[in-house]
Amino acid sequence: MENCLFCKIIAGEIPSKKVYEDENVYAFHDINPNAPIHVLVIPKVHIASIQEVTEENLSAVSAVLKVIPRIAKELGLAENGYRVITNCGEDGGQSVKHLHFHILGGKKLPVTLA
Ligand code: AMP
Ligand code: ZN
Repeated sequence: MENCLFCKIIAGEIPSKKVYEDENVYAFHDINPNAPIHVLVIPKVHIASIQEVTEENLSAVSAVLKVIPRIAKELGLAENGYRVITNCGEDGGQSVKHLHFHILGGKKLPVTLA
């Protein structure tokens, strides 16, 4: 997808601090962390948001969900827990229009979500 920041990161055109990669999934540290550990996990195929999940791209999305617990464990978050967030659209505060799941942890996070 042209002009998509995260597609460019997957392609290596924009540098990132890689945490995990396989044929379907890429994960990297958020450039502006909101917690001691803040990682973004994305499908390699361009899906604009969770609102665009379909039967056809569900396998790419499930590949992302499948590795989130593994990545969290690698990051040392499994024992104390962590939060997974995906923002969607204008009201959801989505700034990059490529589906991504935030993994946040490394401290006790505030209870409020909105
Ligand atoms: P969202 O607001 O849910 O769309 O999340 C987008 C996230 O991408 C934000 O937390 C940004 O800090 C992060 N971000 C933006 N540009 C980059 C980048 N070049 N490398 C890593 N993370 C980025
Ligand atoms: Zn993209």
